[in-house]
Amino acid sequence: MAEAKVFPLKCGTQLYLWGKKGRQSEVARLLESSPYQSGFSLNSETTYAELWMGTHRKSPCYVADTDKTLEAWIDEHPDCLGKKVREKFKGQLPFLMKVLSFDTALPLQAHPNKKHAEELFARHPEKYPDDNHKPEIAIALTPMRGMCGFRPLSEIAGYLKEIPELYEAIGAEVSEEFLSAAGASDAAHQKAALRSLKKCFRALMLCNDEVVAKLLAVMDKRINKEIAAGRDVTASNGELFLQLHRQYPADRGCFAIYLLNVVDIDPNQAIDVPVNEAHAYISGDCVEVLANGDNVVCGGLTDKQFSRLNDFETLSDMLRYDPAPCSDKIMQTKPDPADPNVVFYDPGIDDFAVAKIEIPSKTKSYVISRMSSASIVLVVKGDATGTNVTAGEPISFKRGAAIFISANQDVKLKISSRGLLMFRAYCPV
Ligand SMILES: [Zn+2]
Repeated sequence: MAEAKVFPLKCGTQLYLWGKKGRQSEVARLLESSPYQSGFSLNSETTYAELWMGTHRKSPCYVADTDKTLEAWIDEHPDCLGKKVREKFKGQLPFLMKVLSFDTALPLQAHPNKKHAEELFARHPEKYPDDNHKPEIAIALTPMRGMCGFRPLSEIAGYLKEIPELYEAIGAEVSEEFLSAAGASDAAHQKAALRSLKKCFRALMLCNDEVVAKLLAVMDKRINKEIAAGRDVTASNGELFLQLHRQYPADRGCFAIYLLNVVDIDPNQAIDVPVNEAHAYISGDCVEVLANGDNVVCGGLTDKQFSRLNDFETLSDMLRYDPAPCSDKIMQTKPDPADPNVVFYDPGIDDFAVAKIEIPSKTKSYVISRMSSASIVLVVKGDATGTNVTAGEPISFKRGAAIFISANQDVKLKISSRGLLMFRAYCPV
């Protein structure tokens, strides 16, 4: 019989220090539930930060129960990608799907565009592991909080006036220039304010370490005093500041909450992070889908595993200074006109899109229908058995299972649980 074109994967993991510990981590719970992570045993002290599904070499995944990587399998069966994907992406799977679990903030970061990634990789291969761009989207599995994109100018101006330590870290001259431009609503001033915003961010990134540490300590003390005196510090993000400063003492990234939107999303809502967008996830669990790259330029909120990736100048230069309200950062989903169980998260790029497949509890069977691209399905809720003409043995679609589906293959599911929830990453070319 021909080789299976639909098969389960054994996924890679990353144990970064910002990950949730033990069973608190959705990554760990999925690993524990998956029928295909042979040899996994959960350790309550380990920080299970990321689960990787794709072909990136930093944390490869394998055809389950074999020692063959998915990358090697695709090399041997390039038709599995689908004709257009194979041509456009030179025989490579263009996306990577992850699950992230974090209760400590991730580094303040942005990802380069393709051209910039090529330059960075050529100059500093020790820091930048590949030459690919990395747009990403994050779909919440639990209530999730993150920073994403610059706040509207008026909000930033408000904080600059209200928070003396922020004003001082940025410096009086740059702060005043920003405040006077942001205060006027005509087009010329707004344009000047955008230029000035870049100066503000840059000044914060390049502020002397000792000055940053001192200002943060003063601010920490001040907010604690205000709380002790019964004052409400919510409007100035006081609690969030203290939380970040506990996690990353003396780290300039703690000030970022006053320049960037703080976005809270519910399960199944998503944040869209295009290239060059400043962002930092703060807490929650999510499915993250991204182009198959791992280039990160950091600007604080970094522990010992990530501080080598801080590059304050490069980050300040590359960012999109494109202020927008918080609500703009939440992705609009599109229903599938052909299937009421499916909604799409489509960031409008060639590398990837995601379909959420949510099957109600009374449904007993369902067909995951063919696509012209290869896809990876992750089951986050429920249990089903899948059959495919090439697969031979039935495949378990139990919570935690990650299944590779070649282009142009249907999978018939017999559902044994009450309801099923899956995310399917694919290439929309
Ligand atoms: Zn990122």
